[in-house]
Amino acid sequence: MRHHHSRGLGLTSSAVRHRMVDELRSLGIVDERVLATIGRIARHEFVEEALSSEAYRNRSLPIGHAQTISQPYIVALMTQAALAGAARLTRVLEVGTGSGYQTAVLAEHAETVFTVERLRPLTESARLRLQRLGYRNVHFGYADGMQGWPPHAPYDAIVVTAAATVTPPGLADQLALGGRLVIPVGPSGAQELRLIERTASGLRERVLASVTFVPLLAGRA
Ligand code: SAH
Repeated sequence: MRHHHSRGLGLTSSAVRHRMVDELRSLGIVDERVLATIGRIARHEFVEEALSSEAYRNRSLPIGHAQTISQPYIVALMTQAALAGAARLTRVLEVGTGSGYQTAVLAEHAETVFTVERLRPLTESARLRLQRLGYRNVHFGYADGMQGWPPHAPYDAIVVTAAATVTPPGLADQLALGGRLVIPVGPSGAQELRLIERTASGLRERVLASVTFVPLLAGRA
């Protein structure tokens, strides 16, 4: 797909990417490493070709199966919260692979990313896409990720990209000490993005933003 980079009127060019990065900075993203990653990754590779001219706008887009690729601002916010100033993460779990875009952003800042998706066609297309883009440090799971992925725990960070009604209790148990869980929680229309950190004295929780995510669904489809 690399030959598509200069397609059309340059709607996927580095200029439009930099405009998006400037917009994320103006919205309050301060981690320059995350901004650099977002500026580098070709988001148009993660949506169907008809939507590539929309790929560098700060909006979510449909990826089929009633799912969406998250808004770049939210991807940046979640990644920034997961990193929390750390130079690099060792093991990260993502719940909700979707297009694999957030996965790729995380993979730029972690030794290994484990990502779980409950819809088989999405996990398969994301696997092929990230392989094609050269990612070697991502492991894909086709499963219900609501209870995490215990065999690979503990994680430095867990990023959940679909909204839970309550924080699934098993997830925070899979955090390493100092590890951080970033998860949207709440009913449709009133979700908040929560950051839950595992400290020596227990779990510490705060709210990062009001958000809109598709719901986290139990079981495989
Ligand atoms: N990070 C993705 C966001 C995709 S939307 C991206 O940037 O493209 C959320 C994804 O979570 C969807 O693909 C949906 O199928 C998946 N999902 C929903 N419930 C799930 C569950 N219980 N376990 C794993 N994945 C789930």
